[in-house]
Amino acid sequence: MTVNSMQLSPPTSARRQRLLFEMNPNPIAEFDLNGHFLRINPVWSRMSGYSADDMRGMLLQEAVDADFVTLAHDLFRQAADGVVSRGELVCRNRNGSRFEIDITFAPLADDEQISGVYGLAREISARKRRENHLRVAASTLATMVEAVIITDPARRIVWANPAFTNITGHTLRSVVGHAPDLIDGGDRSSGSTEYQRAVTAARDGGHWQGELVCCRKSGGHFTSLVSINTVRDDRGEIINYVDVLTDVSALRNYQSRVDFLVSHDPLTRLPGRSLFEHDLVVAIEQARKDRGELGIAVIGLDGFRLINDSLGHKAGDAVLHEVAARLATNLREVDTVARLSGDQFAVLLPDATDADNIGLVIDKLLGKLSEPFVVHGERLFLSASAGIGCYPKDGEDAAALTANADAAMYQAKRQGRNTYRFYDPGINRQVHEKLRIANHLRQAADRDEFMLQYQPTVSLQSGEIVGVEALVRWQHPQFGLIPPDQFIGLAEDTGLIRPLGSWVLETACRQAVKWQRAQHTLPRIAVNLSVSQFRQPDVVEHIKNTLEMTGLDPACLQLEITESTLMDNPAAYRETVQELNNLGVTLAIDDFGTGYSSLAYLRDLPVDCLKIDRSFVAGIPKDDQQTVITRAIISMAKTLGKHIIAEGIETDAQLDFLRSQGCDEGQGFLISRPRAAEDIEAALAAGRLLQEQR
Ligand code: C2E
Ligand code: MG
Ligand code: MG
Repeated sequence: MTVNSMQLSPPTSARRQRLLFEMNPNPIAEFDLNGHFLRINPVWSRMSGYSADDMRGMLLQEAVDADFVTLAHDLFRQAADGVVSRGELVCRNRNGSRFEIDITFAPLADDEQISGVYGLAREISARKRRENHLRVAASTLATMVEAVIITDPARRIVWANPAFTNITGHTLRSVVGHAPDLIDGGDRSSGSTEYQRAVTAARDGGHWQGELVCCRKSGGHFTSLVSINTVRDDRGEIINYVDVLTDVSALRNYQSRVDFLVSHDPLTRLPGRSLFEHDLVVAIEQARKDRGELGIAVIGLDGFRLINDSLGHKAGDAVLHEVAARLATNLREVDTVARLSGDQFAVLLPDATDADNIGLVIDKLLGKLSEPFVVHGERLFLSASAGIGCYPKDGEDAAALTANADAAMYQAKRQGRNTYRFYDPGINRQVHEKLRIANHLRQAADRDEFMLQYQPTVSLQSGEIVGVEALVRWQHPQFGLIPPDQFIGLAEDTGLIRPLGSWVLETACRQAVKWQRAQHTLPRIAVNLSVSQFRQPDVVEHIKNTLEMTGLDPACLQLEITESTLMDNPAAYRETVQELNNLGVTLAIDDFGTGYSSLAYLRDLPVDCLKIDRSFVAGIPKDDQQTVITRAIISMAKTLGKHIIAEGIETDAQLDFLRSQGCDEGQGFLISRPRAAEDIEAALAAGRLLQEQR
């Protein structure tokens, strides 16, 4: 039979039935009354993976998933009893996979007699999958933490998820039909907001993502990461917009906190060095454009280590905290104050008009820092030194300006602390000059250019000479007589202090022995020790050897150590002081009153003598404050059982005052200038330089 003849000749009823069965696009099966498959059509065969022959005789229950056996049985029984039944079953494929069908079981009746059951099915797996996807999508949208808004092409909201309500405070019901403008927190001054421009971009490009400012129903604004997607139909027409909003304000807050922590000093909460440099670069750029000026100052605390070492880090931190607060509250909003390192701060004055002005500001700040600090109930005094640099005069860029302000600060420190200095290009010249002198200094010892002068110390009560202090000088063939202040520091920096210090000690001891052998009364010779000499690990050994070598009685040697040397590291030096004391020599704290030592520390320290710094004596009796301090030092020394010497006595008034306060000894130009050994002999022979006190 040809296909044509088949199409042309009208099918018989049996043939029609067979055609309907074979050609049907839906799966069909025929069962006997016990539920055995009799035949299946090609669609069922393709779906199940079984051929019609394989399937014949198999029970319906064997073809369905275990969970559906009962349902399949019940549906089948209804049909077998004459009632059409319908349900959804999950069937098993030969390869083990599953497929879902919507099946109608109908009784097959021959002469009113039910002879079998017909199963007419429809595959529903694809539809089920789609439904599942939609369900998953819906529940995802509902549980997402991001707000989702779906709008129609005219940007009217058709749906929004619960997160939208959580974030914005608007309910779904109140926003449906409205434009998302009601959550747009952008600036409307230019006609359209950034959000509106983003929608246009999404419409043209299919997608837009970025950060926008949104607002809540309550009016509060928040930063949101927004993505806007267009949904198009088959013809490319936009049918929906989907806006997804993530509230990133918490993240931004966190990020700005992290940025803050990285760029700020955690202790004082001031900007750190890198932020200061950044601000300075920006300020210089601005000043360059405006052809303006600006000033910076580097501020270093004087003797801060002492507080840390003697009172502990907690006290140190408290002081730094307070320093930061004093600096910050005494500057204007436009100024920047930063902490550069441990005890160094910096100030940027972006619209400082002239140097005098900057000087006034910095002077005020230093004044604030010299007011007492109260830490753990104790009043502490601190001072600071500052170096000022002005743009463009002292540096055209941030690095040069900072370096020069730094150099000026060290200059201020060298020149007595608690003061400020403007950067002076001469500082660099001085550095060169220092290097030149350092070269000469190296040869000075070999060329015998050092010499000692001696300045007597007298008893203020009896006027008798009680000792002399050895003071070194450098007799340079070209530069003349150079005072120690100008080369001791240099000798320390270059390591020459060791041989120089040994020479001074040995020469002074020999001279004292010489005088004693010549029958002069000389109870004591005083020798100054510099900080680095004092720090040498073998300092005690060295002094012991010198005493033995020269034959000087240790009791006749007094070592002078400046208060600031001692306070440089009080804990570490206590032991050295003790060992020197054990050696039998006496110890004096030189330049007393300038180094901030605490009373408690002094009480326990085995030193015999305090030498009041001549800067205090200089103010007597006119300067009230210095007179008060001198009186206090004398009475404190007496309380502690220490011997007290006043240095730098130049006038009778000073002498009278010191005597009246019970000061033990005195030294100064009024009594005698420092003199060469030969010149001192006459005085030693007389034994007395002052008139005895009546
Ligand atoms: P110092 O130990 O405090 O010595 C006292 C200084 O004051 C001396 O200055 C002395 O000449 C000066 N002086 C004494 N009486 C008066 C006075 O009535 N008026 C004024 N205006 N000044 C007076 P000099 O000799 O220039 O020494 C300065 C400093 O150099 C000394 O201060 C001491 O710290 C240091 N020094 C001197 N010789 C040596 C030394 O051999 N080794 C060490 N390491 N340092 C030394
Ligand atoms: Mg001295
Ligand atoms: Mg002194």
